[in-house]
Amino acid sequence: MKTVHRKRRRIRWGRVFLIPALILFLVFALMTLKYSQDQKILQEINDKIVEMQNQLEEYLNSHKDDALIEKTIIEANAMGEGYAYEEALAILRQEPKIQDDPRIKDRIAYFQNAIDSLVNYDSPVRHLFFHNLIIDPSIAFGEGSHNAAGYNSWNITVYEFKRILEEMYARGFVVVDFYDVYEYKDGKYIRKPLKLPEGKIPFIFSIDDMSYPDPKPADGFARGLTLKNGEIYTRVETKDGEILTKDGDIVPILEIFLEAHPDFSYKSARGILALSGHAGTLGFRLTNNDEIEAATQVVEALKSKGWIFANHSYSHADGAYYSSSSIPEKIDEDFAKWTAKIGSIAGDTTLFVAPFGYKLTGDSLQVVKDYGYSAYFIVDRRGDVSVIDGMTFFARVDIDGVSMTKDAAYLNEHFFDVQRVLDPARP
Ligand SMILES: [Zn+2]
Repeated sequence: MKTVHRKRRRIRWGRVFLIPALILFLVFALMTLKYSQDQKILQEINDKIVEMQNQLEEYLNSHKDDALIEKTIIEANAMGEGYAYEEALAILRQEPKIQDDPRIKDRIAYFQNAIDSLVNYDSPVRHLFFHNLIIDPSIAFGEGSHNAAGYNSWNITVYEFKRILEEMYARGFVVVDFYDVYEYKDGKYIRKPLKLPEGKIPFIFSIDDMSYPDPKPADGFARGLTLKNGEIYTRVETKDGEILTKDGDIVPILEIFLEAHPDFSYKSARGILALSGHAGTLGFRLTNNDEIEAATQVVEALKSKGWIFANHSYSHADGAYYSSSSIPEKIDEDFAKWTAKIGSIAGDTTLFVAPFGYKLTGDSLQVVKDYGYSAYFIVDRRGDVSVIDGMTFFARVDIDGVSMTKDAAYLNEHFFDVQRVLDPARP
């Protein structure tokens, strides 16, 4: 019998378990490795997200006030263009949360430096005055004109006024408010300290009459001022009827010039409007309440721009009024009328611009004082300020046909080049 010798395989239990265990271990190890790699990648992704979030937050933080910063800088710059450097600094400093922004810091340093480089202006501050402008010289100086010789003497044209502005701006002139130059204290006017950038020359500016009486509108002048969308326009007669333009007289022309050259005005100063009364004011005849209301609205708009008002007399008459035969009772009557009819629209004023620059004396001058007027403006191209009988007289330089032809050398030396200004349409 054949013995089947079977070698009985001994089951090696160790191997039986070891191999799957090894496999399991490997799988587990691989999985662990993979897991930990994944975890690492996940962590890296997470870190990246956090980093990006931080960057985004940082970016948003540094730009979230951009609109505010830009608005603040624009407002401060607008102030600074008109020499209101302290006001510009106050605007820049008013928001605590933007003080660390480099743009704000930069502008603060700029205006601080501008303040440090201002110089005191101690010389006399000259005062130039004008009458309403001739828009159409061919009519004003033409054959049909009611007063060609008078207009040639006492008025200038739109062309000339625009050139005067350019010339004076080029020389460094700056319009200043009367009350930024003088302060009335203890019964007298004193000069206030006035600081401007080196080379700038302050001057005071006024316009007389402002009533646009007939027949001037028909003679090539404006008919008056009016408002359109809150802005000041001149009413001008043309052969096609009345039009509104900003090119018809000093007020809107100066406003347009200042939009382009804000540094021609110190702290938003404008001029003094010296209103006479017998023909109404600003082109309104004041014959009914609508006219009074309309004039009042124009006055408010002018005031908001910085214009101030003076009494230029009601009658604008010589004889018993403003001449060597002046009668105190007539002056009193004249001041009472102005106060009631024009002052009620223009508001209180202590500035009196004498018609013809006539210097009242004695009892007639006393009437002016009794009405509360403390500043009396005369015409004197070479004068400054003088106190006589307790009244302060301020000299003014007339800019008109007379001064530009008879005193051209003086105007050339001090204010503008007359030859470059004169209208070729002048006779
Ligand atoms: Zn006058």
